[in-house]
Amino acid sequence: MRIAVLSDIHANREALEAVLEVVHRLQPDRLVLLGDLVGYGPDPGFVVDAAKQLVAAGALCVLGNHDEAAVHGPSGMTPHAHEAALWTRTQLSAEQLAFLAALPLSVELDGALFVHASARMPQAWPYVTDAHAAGQCLAASEAALILCGHTHVPALFYARPGREPVPFTPRRNLAAPLSALRRHVVVVGAVGQPRDGDPAACFALLDTKRAEVTMIRVPYDAPATARKIAAAGLPEWLGMRLQIGR
Ligand code: ZN
Repeated sequence: MRIAVLSDIHANREALEAVLEVVHRLQPDRLVLLGDLVGYGPDPGFVVDAAKQLVAAGALCVLGNHDEAAVHGPSGMTPHAHEAALWTRTQLSAEQLAFLAALPLSVELDGALFVHASARMPQAWPYVTDAHAAGQCLAASEAALILCGHTHVPALFYARPGREPVPFTPRRNLAAPLSALRRHVVVVGAVGQPRDGDPAACFALLDTKRAEVTMIRVPYDAPATARKIAAAGLPEWLGMRLQIGR
C-alpha cells in the first residue's frame, strides 16, 4: 500500500495546494493527515475545510497540539504559538472547531501507527528528536512502524530489539529502505512550516509493499504566505521563518 503522509500543514494554503498537486499525480492508495492542520499560518479555515473534504474522501486525520489549542485555548506554548492560537480560534467557525475537536490522537493503517507527537504519552506532545525519544516511542507501541510529525524536521530511526534506535537523516526525494528485521520511527517533515533549513514543503510517501519511505520536497510560494501572515497581524517571524525553513 502507498500512503501519502502530510504533517504540520499549519494553516499554510499555498504549501498545502502545492503538495496536494504532487500527491494527486502520485495517486497513493491512502492519505493520512498527521495533525497540526492549523496554528502559525494565515488560512486555518481553508485548511480545515480541505481536511474535512479529504477525510470525507477516505483520508485519515489525527489531532495535533495546535489543533487542540485552537479548540481549547493555548497552554504552555511559546509566545508566538500562543498568539497565533488565540488568533486562529477567532478565525474558525463552530463547525470547523467541532471537526478538530473530534480528531483522534492516533490511527492505525496497514500495520503502521500514525500519531502527531509520539506513541508515548501522545496527549503530552513529546518531541521525537533523538534516539532516546524514538526508543520511548517504540516501547509504548507494538507497531513495527510508527509515523510521527511535530518536530518539523524529517528523520528516521531504525531499531533492533534491545538496542537503542539508530538515527538517519533521509535525503530529499530519495527512498529510504525499511527493514523487516527492525522497527522504525519515521518523523515526517512539515508541509506548512519546515524547520530543517529547506523552505520547500515536505511530505512522506510510505510504500509498505516495497518497504521504503520517501520525504518529498515541494517548492511553493512562501513569500505569498508570509505576506498574508503580515496582513493578518500575526508575528512577523512566522512569515520570515517560512522563507528560510527554520
Ligand atoms: Zn507543528
